[in-house]
Amino acid sequence: MYAKCGEIDKARWLFDRTDKKNVVSWNSLIAGYLKNGQPKKCIDLFQEMQLGGFKPDDVTVSNVLGAYFRSRLVDEAIEVFNLIKNKDKVSWTTMIVGYVQNGKEEDALNLFAKMLAEGVKPDSFTISSVISSCAKLAYLCNGQVVHGKAILLGVDNDLLVSSALVDMYCKCGIIKDAWIVFDMMPSRNVVSWNAMIRGYAQNGQDLEALVLYEKLLQQKLKPDSITFVAVLSACNHAGLIEEGRIYFDSISKRYALVPTLDHYACMINLLGRSGCMTEAIDLVNNMPHEPNSLIWSTLLSVCAIKGDIENGEMAAKRLFELEPLNAGPYIMLSNMYATCGRWEDVASVRSLMKSKNVKKFAAYSWIEIDNEVHKFVAEDATHPQTEIIYEELGRLIKKLQEAGFMPDTKLVLHNVEEEEKFASICYHSEKLALAYGLIKNPHATTPIRIMKNIRVCGDCHMFMKLVSKVIGRPIILRDSNRFHHFVGGSCSCKDYW
Ligand SMILES: [Zn+2]
Ligand SMILES: [Zn+2]
Repeated sequence: MYAKCGEIDKARWLFDRTDKKNVVSWNSLIAGYLKNGQPKKCIDLFQEMQLGGFKPDDVTVSNVLGAYFRSRLVDEAIEVFNLIKNKDKVSWTTMIVGYVQNGKEEDALNLFAKMLAEGVKPDSFTISSVISSCAKLAYLCNGQVVHGKAILLGVDNDLLVSSALVDMYCKCGIIKDAWIVFDMMPSRNVVSWNAMIRGYAQNGQDLEALVLYEKLLQQKLKPDSITFVAVLSACNHAGLIEEGRIYFDSISKRYALVPTLDHYACMINLLGRSGCMTEAIDLVNNMPHEPNSLIWSTLLSVCAIKGDIENGEMAAKRLFELEPLNAGPYIMLSNMYATCGRWEDVASVRSLMKSKNVKKFAAYSWIEIDNEVHKFVAEDATHPQTEIIYEELGRLIKKLQEAGFMPDTKLVLHNVEEEEKFASICYHSEKLALAYGLIKNPHATTPIRIMKNIRVCGDCHMFMKLVSKVIGRPIILRDSNRFHHFVGGSCSCKDYW
């Protein structure tokens, strides 16, 4: 009773003075600590219990599982999960949610498949976690299958599930389907609205995002911090500086919320891109929070777009202090120098990177074909159909060159020989994924969907635009920053990314 009511210290006091402990009393206390947000205590108690000669039952193990995940001890959780003899809905779901919370979405999906194979019926909580995994990975086919499962189980109208579905379709770039789910929801909360508004903003439909925000206000719902991130990023993409200022001010003045670092980052981006760099710097210097790496990296990327080396150097230096092992800022600064031919500075950034032993982030792209995911790195040669892929890519490049396209080699950022630049830029991972998509589905009219873990480079962006025109088929590319919908030779991001 004490444990359940949050009086965990009283529970412990009594427990320690009980001579006749049994599994039930141990379980009560372990569950109490978990509920009280003390996972470490849970784990300690679990070990104490075993040392005391008590045999944990499935209830104990289920609770300890959650504790391990909250302490981010995934391997330990797996070990404990395997101990459970009769795995019920709760233990399966705890494990799936734990995987999702720890960034192991692939494992979550695999475990979900096992859960179904064992005949355990998932609930809305399980389903929504699995849909979030599909969203994160942009696995549309998998997501659609789980959507089907949700309908069969009768949980598709559940608020948690349908909000996750809206988010999933948006993150897969299928705004139309996201809207159908959103429109059919019997009730909506601010989470569902946020998913749809953010989806519009991420997919370049900025005005739709702002219109939907106004509709949310008409419903007398109170926007939250996440709503404003979506609204400000819509203003950002659309270059609506005045509207952005008004929305930003309304966060504190009208809704009595404290603007977060995310909001400031949006504003710095908007101001910087609109040419108000001084105002952007003032905002960084006068904000109530200590500027973090998000703020500095936002400023750095704005400076890179604007070619503002002075402020770029300042932001990069702050990032080198805050995240000395993150390759991104080094590469960005070195790119800025390279763009204006300052090769000596490029070399000094490179040697700084080397001296600090900074590893570059491996870039890769992936494409989903018939429910299967195919991953590519630049100049990939591991795929079983490598030869055909390169042939197809060669054909595409030839077609584009006939149409007057030349690869933008200045974006390959070493001062190496022209030909070498040409080779590496032609085989960036997203180009290989695109070629594979075309081979597997040559005659379809549906969009080709590609995902990439880092930002798309300028050459690939141009390439995708032209391919969408030459082959007359839309391409959707999701990179780490946003969505690019390439149709008929132009992109939804309006070349702003
Ligand atoms: Zn590229
Ligand atoms: Zn784009």
